[in-house]
Amino acid sequence: MIVEGTVLRGPDFEPIEGRVVVEDGEIVSVEQASVDSSRIVLPAFVNAHTHIGDSIAKEAGGGLSLDELVAPPDGLKHRLLRAASREEKVEAMRRSIQFMRTTGTASFLEFREGGVEGVYALREAAEGIGVDPVILGRETVEAMEAADGFGASGARDGDFSRERNATASEDKLFGIHAGERDASDINPALDLDPDFLVHMVHPEPLHLDRLEDSAVPVAVCPRSNLVTGVGVPPIAELADRTTVALGTDNVMLNSPSMFREMEFAAKLADVSAREVLRMATLNGARIADLDCGVIEEGRAGKLLVLDGDTDNLAGAQDVVRAVVRRAGVGDVADVIL
Ligand SMILES: [Zn+2]
Repeated sequence: MIVEGTVLRGPDFEPIEGRVVVEDGEIVSVEQASVDSSRIVLPAFVNAHTHIGDSIAKEAGGGLSLDELVAPPDGLKHRLLRAASREEKVEAMRRSIQFMRTTGTASFLEFREGGVEGVYALREAAEGIGVDPVILGRETVEAMEAADGFGASGARDGDFSRERNATASEDKLFGIHAGERDASDINPALDLDPDFLVHMVHPEPLHLDRLEDSAVPVAVCPRSNLVTGVGVPPIAELADRTTVALGTDNVMLNSPSMFREMEFAAKLADVSAREVLRMATLNGARIADLDCGVIEEGRAGKLLVLDGDTDNLAGAQDVVRAVVRRAGVGDVADVIL
């Protein structure tokens, strides 16, 4: 397969005119050439933090606090999950994954509720769509064993050292929420030597030093944090210290469109459009050790192709800024997964 246009090549998304050649799902060459195409070719997105299990509860709970919305066991989300049938939950997740595909997402890192059954239900929902979920089971070690890792709710909810050790012994991914409401659960989360943290809205200088020393990456979810009223993460300060990736968090609260998260992050934080695009692609891939997220020879040929000549994008003076700050689902010409 040959895809032509303005190619955002490599980890710096250098725009070149040319083509990407994909064979058997792998990028075999990236060629600079004169081509007649207004398309923009970029790596498909990696959404670094989701809870798509609550796809049954989109826009429920307007005005509720974070705890009233999502705290286990009796937050609104958990009551709605208990009330829905397995079939309804699988179908709702399936629709969300299809939308992720439509909006150019190749993979997502999911904190999956519901134990082993929850992991199986998500695998079933994702079947045949082409989007690869990286599933972090919750609640039990068995869920981790059935999944790709363990996603811990947060150090204030308990001591996760048993789950952390079990995850390490299986050589799987361990992620944990930290610093969402305040700073008190950040040090205990870092003490677990996690593969990544989620949120980090409230890091103090000591935590930033620890992040830098340990090189633990952070998945930030700025739209979610704004909606739940906990503040917004200091994206530029975090990105100065470690790898930062973007996630859309609960489908209940936010559409899982990486276009929307990128635009919000870029306009919120003092970081370049290139850096934001890296947060939406390569950095999430790095957290989960995926081979997508960058257009380079030898990488997975998972590509997002935009029409640069839509009414929305025509005439844009800076292609990377246009992709990050302006583009949306209506500009998608093709998603190659
Ligand atoms: Zn979360």
